[in-house]
Amino acid sequence: MKILNNIPLLQSYLQQQSAKRALVPTMGNLHSGHLSLVEAAKQQADEVVVSIFVNPLQFGPNEDFGCYPRTFEADCAALSEAGVDAVFAPDTHSLYPQGQERATRVDVPELGDILCGTIRPGHFVGVTSVVLRLLNLVRPDIALFGKKDYQQWLILRQMVQDLFLPIDIIGLPIIRDNDGLAKSSRNQYLSKQQRDIAPYLYQVLQKTAQQLQSEGSNYQALEQAASTELAQQGFVVDYFDIRRAEDLLRPDKVESPAALIILVAAKLGNTRLIDNYQGSSSNKVRL
Ligand code: AMP
Repeated sequence: MKILNNIPLLQSYLQQQSAKRALVPTMGNLHSGHLSLVEAAKQQADEVVVSIFVNPLQFGPNEDFGCYPRTFEADCAALSEAGVDAVFAPDTHSLYPQGQERATRVDVPELGDILCGTIRPGHFVGVTSVVLRLLNLVRPDIALFGKKDYQQWLILRQMVQDLFLPIDIIGLPIIRDNDGLAKSSRNQYLSKQQRDIAPYLYQVLQKTAQQLQSEGSNYQALEQAASTELAQQGFVVDYFDIRRAEDLLRPDKVESPAALIILVAAKLGNTRLIDNYQGSSSNKVRL
């Protein structure tokens, strides 16, 4: 496995390759959710490049950029074991040579301004701006993302479509712990007590999905009941929303449950967790 820690090294590596290439962008601190993307990439491409870059542009001023877990050696060991061809791990200056303030940005309006976009202003512009750089540098045929970050996946698909990039943006199912908590690098911030509470997020998503099937379409009442239940467990809920899976707009008429997605973002202490549930495509866990 090659370690390419600057752009000239990446470029000379790419010149030697001509196969179907997959890119899996990550911020490192890899877990089985990331490795499921690598597995899928290996099945769908001849060559797999994983990028590791903790992107300062997508963190707000009071967020966890400074303490985000960085475990480069262990990540490389896991990726080598997984049969990855190359890890692209640039430093910040390589991606933003003019500095972050002057970096060219890409905005996907509307889709990027709702849900997490409202709560974390500038976050998705940071994501699209770094992913476009990574796509332009690595030039993959496909790029793989987790549907844990469902809104991010839709935004990136929209960006690639709008900018005519010949790249498939593939979304893959959420990987969970045995108790249903979606795997996340941020789960390690949770105290023992918070970790015990955290699986409620998925339980309430599942319960709401069942109610959608059986009780139908009073979406607002279902959202309100779920938010209240989470608050009672100790979550501070940013949003608990039932949206159209296709474009994340609020359903303006009764939709089939299959056309809907339930999305949640909630905090336990300082740790912000996100999750979602979409009909049969989420991994179901018996609780
Ligand atoms: P991150 O390192 O958190 O930026 O995540 C890198 C990629 O891994 C993104 O496409 C995420 O959506 C994906 N990912 C993170 N957690 C999970 C998970 N539990 N299941 C599936 N994909 C995930």
